[in-house]
Amino acid sequence: MGGVTTPAPGLAALRPRLPSPLQRIEDERFARRGVRLLLKRDDLIHPELPGNKWRKLEPNLRAAAEAGERTLLTFGGAYSNHLRATAAAGRLLGFATIGVIRGAELAGKPLNPSLARCAADGMRLHFVDRATYRRKAEPEVEAALLERFGPFYAVPEGGSNALAAQGCTALGRELRGETDMAAVACGTGGTLAGLAAGLAPDQRALGIPVLKGGTPHFLAADTERLQHAAFGGRRGTWDLDPRFHCGGYARRTPELDAFAADFETRHGVPVERLYVAKLLLGLTTLAEEGAFAPGTTVTAVITGAP
Ligand SMILES: *Cc1c(COP(=O)(O)O)cnc(C)c1O
Repeated sequence: MGGVTTPAPGLAALRPRLPSPLQRIEDERFARRGVRLLLKRDDLIHPELPGNKWRKLEPNLRAAAEAGERTLLTFGGAYSNHLRATAAAGRLLGFATIGVIRGAELAGKPLNPSLARCAADGMRLHFVDRATYRRKAEPEVEAALLERFGPFYAVPEGGSNALAAQGCTALGRELRGETDMAAVACGTGGTLAGLAAGLAPDQRALGIPVLKGGTPHFLAADTERLQHAAFGGRRGTWDLDPRFHCGGYARRTPELDAFAADFETRHGVPVERLYVAKLLLGLTTLAEEGAFAPGTTVTAVITGAP
């Protein structure tokens, strides 16, 4: 389980910066409440596989290499950071890569910058309609992909599987003794699942979903499922605050934009807008609401760069 600290020989070529730096931030909105704010700079782990994408892919790349697989196949939307990270890892490590992209209507159109980067890294792009994409985990769809592309190591959408959650326990372990609470923006919940499992018993994790969910938010069940798959049951103390999605995935509000620009000006830290901005807005709002007791140290995991 977890415990992966030294990259396999091939993976050492990626030279990750680990543990990632922990940065103290002086922010009056926290200081006024007697709260310390730290940034866990996972965005600095690797220039091409930043943040949680490194932590989630690393154990999968290792498993693929150990199984003798030469091809990685994964899934994502047209702007997926995970697709870009997988394509980059393939180029750097010598895996062939296939990206199954949601949206048959995108085939034959000019590639957006994100997909163009994937293609430049050698990824084969396979566009499928949304109905097929939704069924991507079903045996018939996988069989059709196998027939078309030959054998591959499949990494799920967003890179979140049991190995990915195990990989993210290192994030929690790096924060032991450093903070009372660690918060992360959530897409699939894989990073939160591992973070919470890696923290010490007296620490807690908070997830800020960037997707709109129901009540209870679907991410609670997804994160719990990932923890069961990775660790055999629920691990650590974690919770979600679903108030900060700002309309849903890739949606923004004027308030969010203003907040992110202001945070960059105050602290000189680049703020990624799809995930990290919502996390920082959430934590700042919680601090202003008095949700953190005086003397508390709060860590924001900076999972990616703009
Ligand atoms: C992918 C991504 C996330 C979401 O991680 P999950 O494990 O899917 O919850 C958060 N932040 C950034 C910058 C990402 O690229």
